[in-house]
Amino acid sequence: MEIGSASQDHLKVCKVKKKVLRKQVRAQHTLMRHEGIECVSHATQNLVVANAGLGNGMNRCQLFKIVEEYGLVETLLMPPNKPYSFVKYGTTEDAKKAFDALNGKEVTLEDFGQNIVLYINFVEKVFWKNVVPTSLPPGLTVVENIISPEEERRMLEIIDWREDKDTQKTQKTLKHRRVKHFGYEFCYGSNNVDKNKPLPGGLPEICNLFLEKCLKQGYIKHKPDQLTVNQYEPGQGIPPHIDTHSAFEDEIISLSLGAEIVMDFKHPDGHTVAVMLPRRSLLVMSGESRYLWTHGITPRKYDVIQASELGQKVGTITADVGDLTLHRRETRTSFTFRKVRRSHCNCIYPSVCDSQKGQQRQGQPSVPLSEMEALKLEQEHVHKVYEEIATHFSSTRHSPWPQIVEFLRSLPKGAIVADIGCGNGKYLGINKDLYMIGCDRSKNLVDICGKKGFQAFVCDALAVPIRSGSCDACISVAVIHHFSTAERRLATIRELARLLRPGGTALIYVWAMEQEYRKQKSKYLKEKNDSKGKEEETNPGAMRGLPSDRVPGGSSQGSASSDRLPRDAKAEGCDAKPVAASALPVHTNRTSFHSQDLLVPWHLKSDPKKKRGDAAKLSSPAGSEESQELGPVFHRYYHVFCEGELEAACRALDCVRVQKSYYDQGNWCVVLEKL
Ligand code: MN
Ligand code: ZN
Repeated sequence: MEIGSASQDHLKVCKVKKKVLRKQVRAQHTLMRHEGIECVSHATQNLVVANAGLGNGMNRCQLFKIVEEYGLVETLLMPPNKPYSFVKYGTTEDAKKAFDALNGKEVTLEDFGQNIVLYINFVEKVFWKNVVPTSLPPGLTVVENIISPEEERRMLEIIDWREDKDTQKTQKTLKHRRVKHFGYEFCYGSNNVDKNKPLPGGLPEICNLFLEKCLKQGYIKHKPDQLTVNQYEPGQGIPPHIDTHSAFEDEIISLSLGAEIVMDFKHPDGHTVAVMLPRRSLLVMSGESRYLWTHGITPRKYDVIQASELGQKVGTITADVGDLTLHRRETRTSFTFRKVRRSHCNCIYPSVCDSQKGQQRQGQPSVPLSEMEALKLEQEHVHKVYEEIATHFSSTRHSPWPQIVEFLRSLPKGAIVADIGCGNGKYLGINKDLYMIGCDRSKNLVDICGKKGFQAFVCDALAVPIRSGSCDACISVAVIHHFSTAERRLATIRELARLLRPGGTALIYVWAMEQEYRKQKSKYLKEKNDSKGKEEETNPGAMRGLPSDRVPGGSSQGSASSDRLPRDAKAEGCDAKPVAASALPVHTNRTSFHSQDLLVPWHLKSDPKKKRGDAAKLSSPAGSEESQELGPVFHRYYHVFCEGELEAACRALDCVRVQKSYYDQGNWCVVLEKL
C-alpha cells in the first residue's frame, strides 16, 4: 500500500504532536515532584513555562516578547535559578492561545545562542513558594550614588594597571581578577597584613577626600589606612570569605565603580542573601555582616537582578521575584577600604574569630568527667556568671512565656507553687490566686525578686529546703540545662518530683538542640514538626526578637562520640554531638547548635540604661549595636536537649507520669504528674 505524501505529512505531524505531549506531561511530573507545582488539566489564566527560566538562561525581556504575542500579560514571574517561569494572562482565552501556540515551540536563547523547547502547562495560581521577604544581613548598608560620575572617572583613572615593572609586588592576578594594594600589602597566603610594613605612599590623595566625606556622614568611625582595588571582568569573581578578624577593624567599606554587580552574603546556617551593589554605590559592612557572614562574588557573566530598576536597585535580589531578569556583567572595579587592627578582636562571634580561637585553648573549660569536675564547672560557668550578670540579665527578662502563664493560670485557687530557679521572679506574680514561692542559686537574682515584693530564697535546685509532698505544683524554667552531667540533670527532676504532693504537677523547660533561624529549620526539626499539633509550632519570626539568652545561637567546633556521657538519653536520629574531645565549644549567638554541651557567651553591658540611650541615638548606618563598646564576656555552660531526651529522663523516674510533652520556641517542655 502506498502512502501519499499528504498523509505522510499528517503522520509526521501526529508523531511530533505525540512527542510534544509526552514531554509536556513529563514537565508536569517534574514540576510536581521537584518543585511542588501542581499543573491542572483545564484551562486557566495562568501558565507555567518549562525550560524558559532564569536558571536555564532565558532573560526576562525575551520571554516577555514571546508571551505577549498572545494577549495582555498581567504577571511574568521568574524565580531565581529555576528552569521555569510563570505567566498570568488577563483572560483564560489568551492563556489558551499561548498554550496552543507555544507548547513544543523551539526558541533560541538571546544571551547564549542555544536552542530550547518550551513546554506549557496550566496552573491554578501563579506563585513561588520560596518567596520570603529577605532583608539585608544585620550591619550591612548600601549607600547609593555616594560619588558623582566625575569622581568615579577620576578614581578609576588613578589606577594604572600597566605599571607592571616597579610594582610587581603590589599587583597580582588572582584567578584573573586584578588586584592592587595601598597602605598595606594584603597577603593572600596568610590572609593578613604585615602591620609593621606600611607601603610607601599611603592611600591615593583622591581617596582621602572621599574618606573624609564618609567619616563626616557617619558611614565609618575610623579612617581606613588600607585600600585594596579589585577589577572584575565578566565571568570573574571572588570566593566566599570573611575578612580576617585579626587583620582589620569592624567597618569595611567598598566602592563599586564602572558597573554594578551582585554580591552573595551567607550566614553560617546557610541562609544566603544576594545583594545588588549598584555602580557608584558604597557597601558598608559592620557588626554581624562583617564578622559572621561570608561575602563573595560568583564567577559568572550574568547576574539575576530586578528588571524594572536595572542598575539602581539597592538591596536584596529575591525580595520581589515578579521582576527578575538576567543582566550581563561589565567590568567592575572596587575600592575596598579597611582599617588595620592593632589589638585583638573581641567580637561576639567566637566560632569564626581567629583572635579568640587562640585564647580559647588556654584554660578553656572541658566536659566534666566526675562529680567534682561537674560541680566546679557549674560554679565557674553558671553560678558565678549569673551572680555577675544578675542586673543586666534581669533587665532583659520582662515578658513571661504564654504557655507557662497558661500553666500557672490553670492551677486552682490557693495552690502552693514553687518556682525552682526563679531568676528575677518574672513568673512569681502571674497568678495572684496562687501561693508562689521562688528560689534561685544566685543571691543577686533573689535580691531582685525581694525588691519586687516576691517571696524568694537562695538554694540549689538539687537540694531544695522544702518539705516533701508540700507543693501542688512546681515550675523549672531554663534551669536543668545548666547541670553538666546526665546524673545531675536527672537528680534535679527527682528533686522537683519530691516536692510535689500526689497528683501535683511540674512544668519543665529546657533549651532544645533543635533550633531554627529565620525560616531555616534544621532538617531534623522540619521532619518532626510535620507530624505534630499546632502547639508545637515554633515562631521563627520571634526568634530574633527574643532576648539573647533565649536565642540559642550557633556553636562551633563540636565533635562526636558520646562515651563520656554514658547516661545521656540520646534520642534516635538526634543530630546532636556530645562533646568528647574535652574542650567545650563557645557558641556564636543566633547560629544553630552543633554540640549538645557548650559555652554560651553573655556580653555584659555595665549600664543597660546608658546602653539603650546610645542605641537610640545611633543614626549612622555603620553602627550595629553589637559592634559597639563591648563589655566583659562571660561564658555560661549549657547542655541543650535533643527531642525525647527530657521526656526519657522523666520516664526514668517511677514516681511521676509524663502528662504532656511539647516544643515551645526553642525549648523542650514537659508537664509531669506525681503519682
Ligand atoms: Mn572581603
Ligand atoms: Zn573577631
